[in-house]
Amino acid sequence: MPRDPLFSTRCIHAGERPDPQGSPFTPLYRTTTFRHDSAQGLLDVIEGRVPGNLYTRYGLNPTIQSVEDKLASLEGGERALLFTSGMAAASSLFFAHGRDGIVCIGDAYGGTLDLLGERLPQLGLRADCLLGHEPDRLDACLRAGSRLVFLETPANPTLHLLDIRAIAEQAHAYGALLAVDNTFATPVNQRPLELGADLVLHSATKYLGGHSDLTAGVLVGAAALLEATNDWRKCLGQVPAPDTAALLARSLRTLPLRVRQHNENAQAIAEAMRRHPRVRRVLYPGLAEFPGHALAKRQMSGFGGILTLEIDGGWAAAVATLDRLRLIANAPSLGGAESLATLPALTTHHDTSAEERTRRGITDGMLRLSVGLEDAADLIADLEQALAG
Ligand code: PLP
Repeated sequence: MPRDPLFSTRCIHAGERPDPQGSPFTPLYRTTTFRHDSAQGLLDVIEGRVPGNLYTRYGLNPTIQSVEDKLASLEGGERALLFTSGMAAASSLFFAHGRDGIVCIGDAYGGTLDLLGERLPQLGLRADCLLGHEPDRLDACLRAGSRLVFLETPANPTLHLLDIRAIAEQAHAYGALLAVDNTFATPVNQRPLELGADLVLHSATKYLGGHSDLTAGVLVGAAALLEATNDWRKCLGQVPAPDTAALLARSLRTLPLRVRQHNENAQAIAEAMRRHPRVRRVLYPGLAEFPGHALAKRQMSGFGGILTLEIDGGWAAAVATLDRLRLIANAPSLGGAESLATLPALTTHHDTSAEERTRRGITDGMLRLSVGLEDAADLIADLEQALAG
C-alpha cells in the first residue's frame, strides 16, 4: 500500500483539482455561479448528495474548495471552511457551538476577547474568560452547562502555553468541545487535532497567508461539527472572494520553508536579547528558562516566529525603542516575510481595559516582535541600535 504523502508534499499537492488546460494547480475561478446540466443535478448539489460547484457565497466554488481541502489535510481534519477573516471564523464558531456557554482559557487576541466579553453577551451568549488553566473553575463552568472551550496557544502576546491534551480530556469528560486558535504555531509547529482538540481556528491573514497581502480565516475539524458553522458562514456572508483563496493556496505551497526560517530567526533573536541589559525579560517558548518550555517541547515541533521583549523602563522606554527601529516596521499583525514590532497595549489589546491587561500580565513595557524572513543578524543589529539609542 502506498503511504500517505508527507507534510511538505501535501502543502503543494493536497486539494488540487485536475485542470483540463493542464495547470499544475487549481486555477482561479472568479465565477459567482455555475451552470448545471439538469434540475436534478442542481438539486443534488444543493442538498449535498453530490459534490459540486454552485454559488460562490456558499463556498461551492472550486478555487475555495480546493484550498479548504488542502487546509484540512495540513491540520489533519476531515473538513475545513474558509472565512473572510479570523474574526469571521471565530464568530461563526461561537454562534454555531457556543449557545450553551463558552469558556475561554488564558490569553487570547484582543479582538477575540472583545467578541467574547462585550459583543456576544449583548446577544445573550454567555462567555466565561478564565485567566489561565484553572481546572476547578473550568470544571465549574462545564458543570454549569458550557459546551465550548476555546483557547489560544501560544497566546498573544505573552506566549503563554496551555496543555491541549489535558484540557481536551477535561472538556470531553463533560461532552464539551475544545477549539484551539493555532494562528501563532501553524500546523508546521503544532497540530491540535492530533492532541485531542475538536476544532482548529486560524487567522490565515498571518502565517498561512504569509505575505501580509490577504485577509482570511479558517476552521478545521470533523465535517459534522463544521456543518452548523457553515450555515452561519452562509447566512452572514463570510465566504471570501476566490481571489483570496487562490492567493492563500499559493502561500501554503511554501509554508514549511517559511515557518522553519521564522522559527530559526526568532530563536536567534531571543538568544541575543536574553543577555541585553535593556531587556528585562524575553518571552519565547524556545528558551530553556521560559516557563512553558517543557510543554512546548512536548506539544510543538517548532517554537514559532513571535517573541515578546519586556523593555526595561516601561511604557516610555518601549515607545522610544519602537520609534527608533529602522528595519523592523512599527505595525500590528504578524506572520509576514517582513519583521514587525508592536506594543500590545497600543494595538492588539487597545480595546482591553488597562485593568484587564494588568490582570493578564500584559505590561506597558512589552514589545511584541513578529520575526520575519530577513537575515537574523540584520534584525539583531536593528534591535541593538534601537535599544542603545
Ligand atoms: N487570532 C489571532 C491569534 C490573531 O492574532 C488575530 C489577529 O491578529 C486573529 C485571531 C483575528 O484574525 P483576523 O485579523 O484575520 O480577523
